[in-house]
Amino acid sequence: MPSFQHARFLVSAAKPQDFPPEGGPELAFAGRSNVGKSSAINALAGRKRLAFFSKTPGRTQMINFFDLGGRARLADLPGYGFASAPRSLRASWDALIGGYLTGRRSLAAVIVLTDARHPLTANDRHFLEWLRPVAARRLLLLSKADKLSRAQRAATLARTRAALDQAAMTSEVLLFSSKNAEGVEETRALLEGWLRAPQ
Ligand code: GDP
Repeated sequence: MPSFQHARFLVSAAKPQDFPPEGGPELAFAGRSNVGKSSAINALAGRKRLAFFSKTPGRTQMINFFDLGGRARLADLPGYGFASAPRSLRASWDALIGGYLTGRRSLAAVIVLTDARHPLTANDRHFLEWLRPVAARRLLLLSKADKLSRAQRAATLARTRAALDQAAMTSEVLLFSSKNAEGVEETRALLEGWLRAPQ
């Protein structure tokens, strides 16, 4: 059974030719730098340092692939920040991520993290537009949800769902916190279900 608990680092890829051969359904994690993506992957895997492979020097602009129990894969995409990034960096990011999103046939779902305190920034929306033509399930995680009050959390969830509906973007949306584990079980169950029954 595909499982986050059995996640193991596979390889880092700086260009599409370096992607590992397709092997089982794949989950791709995306979000702007510092949104809490590594912490989320670690929380889902129940490990402290798993996603820190992706943070080691030279690997932050690469796609870092993990094996999930020999049955599925996880791809940790480099953090985005289109508006402020230098043009050369943006171009290589576009080629790498564009190549991945359009060419990876085993892509089962894309998990996008957005900060619960200011969800769906211009960068997030830009990335979601990239995802529009991609035939994969989508999950938006409202990260660092522990920074919001209970009332704010409910309001943010409702507002974000409404904004996605309005933009005709189909996506699951969940509150998530690596700090207090809100949404971790729910996210794991949802994703493992998707891996068991890819579209
Ligand atoms: P990444 O760059 O997206 O991989 O982000 P990291 O996982 O490295 O987290 C960036 C910063 O946010 C770190 O200081 C984390 O401790 C903090 N952080 C990550 N997740 C959470 C969370 O759920 N709640 C809070 N309060 N802080 C978090």
